[in-house]
Amino acid sequence: MDFDFSPEQLAIRKHMRDFAEREIAPVAQKNDRACQFDWDIAHKIFKEGFLGCPVPEKYGGLGLDYVSYGLMTEEVNRICSSTRTLFSVQTSLVALTILKWGTEEQKMQYLPKLCTGEFIGCYGLTEPEAGSDAANQQTRARKDGTDYLLSGQKTWISCGTIATHALIFATVDPALGHKGITCFIVDTKTPGFKAQKIEGKLGLRASDTAMLFLDEVRVPASSMLGNVGEGFKIAMSALDNGRFSVAAGAVGLVQGCIDVCSKYAMQRITFGKPIGEHQQVQAMIADMVVDCEAGRLLYLRAAHLKNKGVRNTMETSLAKLFCGEAANRAGHNAVQIFGGYGYSDEYPVERYFRDAKILNIYEGTREVQKMIIAQDALGIRSANGKPETRLTELATAGV
Ligand SMILES: Cc1cc2nc3c(=O)[nH]c(=O)nc-3n(C[C@H](O)[C@H](O)[C@H](O)COP(=O)(O)OP(=O)(O)OC[C@H]3O[C@@H](n4cnc5c(N)ncnc54)[C@H](O)[C@@H]3O)c2cc1C
Repeated sequence: MDFDFSPEQLAIRKHMRDFAEREIAPVAQKNDRACQFDWDIAHKIFKEGFLGCPVPEKYGGLGLDYVSYGLMTEEVNRICSSTRTLFSVQTSLVALTILKWGTEEQKMQYLPKLCTGEFIGCYGLTEPEAGSDAANQQTRARKDGTDYLLSGQKTWISCGTIATHALIFATVDPALGHKGITCFIVDTKTPGFKAQKIEGKLGLRASDTAMLFLDEVRVPASSMLGNVGEGFKIAMSALDNGRFSVAAGAVGLVQGCIDVCSKYAMQRITFGKPIGEHQQVQAMIADMVVDCEAGRLLYLRAAHLKNKGVRNTMETSLAKLFCGEAANRAGHNAVQIFGGYGYSDEYPVERYFRDAKILNIYEGTREVQKMIIAQDALGIRSANGKPETRLTELATAGV
């Protein structure tokens, strides 16, 4: 087991940290207040090529490993969760899903442009009646000649109004249950496709979130990702990548809390000494540090398996659950350490506190992660597939 980062991994982390502090930190509060997606920052991210971090160079990405991707994601979220959402959606949920399931033609068509930001993707799984129960898809895909006509509604879709392309999950026959779900790559300019911004969010205020309405949206069969009926498998494999970036982002939020709280705690004086010298404040800082270190090890373990090409649903779920909870504990304590000042957006801790909540809601709620983990432990359903196949997979990858 190697706990060291390579020089390349350290370099990309530093590069991302410098970028986030220089470009995102100065405008994060303003964007949060205005509830606006910042195109200026987005274009700077596109220009740096950050969105293609783990995508192979052949398809226009940086060709870096998942440890690098995790560290980058952490650094963005250390400053701003809304900006990190762009990475999670564009890179993890959309690009990596096309990389895994797309034909060579689809990969060449979409990946280079997703890496440069010429295309923006969104991931349309959730519906008004299909959140945790994602298999209950009501959006229909009806065959019409060689095309499909998609009709239905999606909700809570990140990047929904800014996307040029959407992964849309729809059923070809509700009677087939999850076996009827099929995934399509849909150009959002296609007639019948409409996106409407969702206002009034608790957190992630500078990220774009939308409802999508599809009314007989015509897509050619060549836009299908995978085969008919493979959509549910595709959706779940996308979440293995999405949850990883959420976990890494959550660790970044905890690190952000540690950094701002440590500074503040050594400046703010009560009872004649810095609050950082009071034991109860130290206890809150210590809890954050332990959570941060433990969470980082969990997501890096998942990154290690991803680098080896080994299925990691369980490890990613563990990381997503723990890191999401850790971020909520840290956001809560960070506001406490700042006292009354923590209650105002003059300092970022109030935003961290609000932004943390989504981490145990989207990409599978806290309860859904516990279900995956407990069912695996109880022998009800193995998270990483059949145990005998798993053993061979681990042995082959040398893990
Ligand atoms: C800001 C934001 C961005 C999002 N971005 C996207 C996106 O880009 N793409 C996308 O497809 N979706 C997205 N989502 C949707 C998100 O993934 C869902 O909200 C989430 O999966 C929960 O589904 P739900 O809201 O329908 O809650 P429900 O499924 O109705 O759950 C409500 C509560 O019941 C609990 N619960 C439900 N079933 C069980 C069970 N069997 N056992 C125990 N507890 C249970 C849940 O854990 C939760 O606490 C986003 C959501 C938000 C808020």
